[in-house]
Amino acid sequence: METILVLTHVDETGATLTKASLEAVTAGVELAKQLSATLSIGILGGDASAAAGAVAATGARVFAVTGEAFAQPRYATDATGCEALCRAAQASIVLAPGSSRFTRVAAGVAHRLGGFIDTHITALSSNDSVDATRWFYRQRVEAVISREKRPWFLLLDAGTHAAYAGATAAATVEAVAVTLPATRTTVEGLRSPMRDAQTIRPDAKLLFVAGAGWTKKQPDGQLHVAEAGKEILEFLRLTGASLGSSKSLADQKAEGEESVLPFLTHMNQIGQTGSTPRHAKGLSTCCHGEEPHVVGWRFIGDRRAISLDPNCGWTRGKADVVYIADAFAVIAKVNAELAARSS
Ligand SMILES: Cc1cc2nc3c(=O)[nH]c(=O)nc-3n(C[C@H](O)[C@H](O)[C@H](O)COP(=O)(O)OP(=O)(O)OC[C@H]3O[C@@H](n4cnc5c(N)ncnc54)[C@H](O)[C@@H]3O)c2cc1C
Repeated sequence: METILVLTHVDETGATLTKASLEAVTAGVELAKQLSATLSIGILGGDASAAAGAVAATGARVFAVTGEAFAQPRYATDATGCEALCRAAQASIVLAPGSSRFTRVAAGVAHRLGGFIDTHITALSSNDSVDATRWFYRQRVEAVISREKRPWFLLLDAGTHAAYAGATAAATVEAVAVTLPATRTTVEGLRSPMRDAQTIRPDAKLLFVAGAGWTKKQPDGQLHVAEAGKEILEFLRLTGASLGSSKSLADQKAEGEESVLPFLTHMNQIGQTGSTPRHAKGLSTCCHGEEPHVVGWRFIGDRRAISLDPNCGWTRGKADVVYIADAFAVIAKVNAELAARSS
């Protein structure tokens, strides 16, 4: 019989589990039910008492590795803590969020335990075996994997499961003792960009994509780059949307041309050679909708585009709704209406 462990970690507040951790808890609860397996939850963080309450309703055994050394991510301590949690739970299947904290250590922990790891898992199911689903070749090919090797570590992509939201209750936490390894890294603090400067917002409901059209000559024969930057930033400020870009737009700055939109980097690029984010809705503007770009929209729920070109890729079955219109005019109008509503 399988023994499932869900590895979780706290967020920057130190008291709450991250959303991705709670998504992994949901996956663990569902899989344990399907397999009639034992479920444990492991918590890594400075203090687990508050965080444990949020998963008490699962009825799972809760193990924790806590203390100052685990308050901040660091390879040596996180790997030791996760290894100790896996050994305490005697896990045969380990589910963990594919967060930067766990992605960094999970393969090393699997190796220490003589196990195997698969990453970017989007779904789990079980018949006779445990089946894990992931995408290959930039979300074009979907594969279902099963393995004999145990322990089997599965890192789950964020946004693929609902965050666990059971009633908060007092939880019995089994503290797992660890011998701290030698550390070379001292975490001095966190520095994060101002909210306005941070344009990539994975938790946003809306993805707003800017294409190269924003920097092209417009019907009046002129460039309107400054106006484009102003309208895009205003839209992001008013909606809280996450900013994506086509490759053509992101490349313009990289190739040393006029610095088009200084807040935009290749990190914003969506597509085959960019990212494949998950948002409920997406709005593409001034972008042609070519296949290498649109493949990055695989997990966007409702896809809309504003393009001047009635023959663009979006109109050829790639978007749910296409507005054949001037994005400068549309976004300026939308911004004005949003500003009026928020004042
Ligand atoms: C191997 C490979 C990998 C690639 N990977 C990626 C990738 O990861 N991501 C990616 O994005 N691309 C990728 N590409 C490039 C991709 O094929 C396209 O070249 C790119 O997406 C085009 O960007 P664009 O639509 O913004 O620009 P353009 O093709 O220049 O289109 C601009 C559009 O804006 C419209 N427009 C102009 N003004 C307005 C206005 N006022 N209002 C509304 N619409 C307007 C125009 O009608 C036009 O349709 C890749 C290509 C290759 C070969």
